[in-house]
Amino acid sequence: MGSMKINEQMRGALLEEAKMRDVFEMMDRYGHEQVIFCRHPQTGLKAIIALHNTTAGPALGGCRMIPYASTDEALEDVLRLSKGMTYKCSLADVDFGGGKMVIIGDPKKDKSPELFRVIGRFVGGLNGRFYTGTDMGTNPEDFVHAARESKSFAGLPKSYGGSGDTSIPTALGVFHGMRATARFLWGTDQLKGRVVAIQGVGKVGERLLQLLVEAGAYCKIADIDSVRCEQLKEKYGDKVQVVDVNRIHKESCDIFSPCAKGGVVNDDTIDEFRCLAIVGSANNQLVEDRHGALLQKRSIWYAPDYLVNAGGLIQVADELEGFHEERVLAKTEAIYDMVLDIFHRAKNENIPTCEAADRIVMERLKKLTDIRRILLEDSRNSARR
Ligand code: NAD
Repeated sequence: MGSMKINEQMRGALLEEAKMRDVFEMMDRYGHEQVIFCRHPQTGLKAIIALHNTTAGPALGGCRMIPYASTDEALEDVLRLSKGMTYKCSLADVDFGGGKMVIIGDPKKDKSPELFRVIGRFVGGLNGRFYTGTDMGTNPEDFVHAARESKSFAGLPKSYGGSGDTSIPTALGVFHGMRATARFLWGTDQLKGRVVAIQGVGKVGERLLQLLVEAGAYCKIADIDSVRCEQLKEKYGDKVQVVDVNRIHKESCDIFSPCAKGGVVNDDTIDEFRCLAIVGSANNQLVEDRHGALLQKRSIWYAPDYLVNAGGLIQVADELEGFHEERVLAKTEAIYDMVLDIFHRAKNENIPTCEAADRIVMERLKKLTDIRRILLEDSRNSARR
């Protein structure tokens, strides 16, 4: 009887080990440094924090709350998103690396101040290796509770010393990305008279619409919230046309701008676009990297989402270093040069724009690693002296 129990225990331990090996395999696949599982039964907290790459500095990335169907789904999401953050931080030239946190739960039912205070403890326990804030399903007020336990939170309301709404710099970054696209395609960064189709006129889409109308562009808009569309039509008059939400990506336009959901460039849509460029705020617009190559084949210039939507990240990173609005605006404007650089590289090397962007990230990370090595050698040498 005793030996049966031991065998069962061993089997259980081996099974656990196999599961862990899977997590390590997943970490290797994406190149992660650290994954932390957080559990607190009293508040119901189940969360995962993933630190992808801290070569440039502490990991930075939002905290999502979604009723994931399984732990595997949450793990896959946090690994994929945190890797994206490394790329985003690198191109935005901020001294942070990629990280992300996901909470497995329904934001409408499972939130409580206590849950966020516990999150504050977990994140604080990482001693500055990870900073986080709002993302899907969480809002600045949630992190007011978390911030009482640790200083590792950003994007707090202005009344709590935060930098406020990130959709403003995000929209501005997308707008600069469009100006750069215009410069590349038409030799001028003026958007006057250009037609832009915006999918989703929420916080970012609406701000972008305003910037575009002010710049003299003509906008087609669509949103599942038809009331919102009609309000904007009323506000901007004949500068705006409301189109069918299921057909917006098929609209004839100069620039298509996905500002709602990810995965817009996929096997079904790839042949349906009637635009010359895609520049929008939605995260993960390409379902797979190969869709970037397919866009290249169709001569559609894709401005990588993680570059043009980095305005919000730039603001949050700046908040952690002492918020300065002019610095945020200048760094956000730099998205213009980066988009141009990527488009020219892609053209000269005949590669998809997403590949050109990835190569720049790799070059930057390599340079950073070299700098870190030199600094480490320097301090070792001075310690020996
Ligand atoms: P939001 O929720 O305020 O707006 C999204 C809008 O899209 C809503 O009006 C919604 O009704 C609409 N929508 C949803 N599904 C749609 C569909 N199938 N077709 C058309 N419209 C649809 O979100 P947001 O803050 O404006 O962000 C927009 C996108 O940009 C998101 O993908 C977000 O992840 C990304 N993003 C936002 C920020 C930021 O600072 N807010 C930063 C980086 C990236």
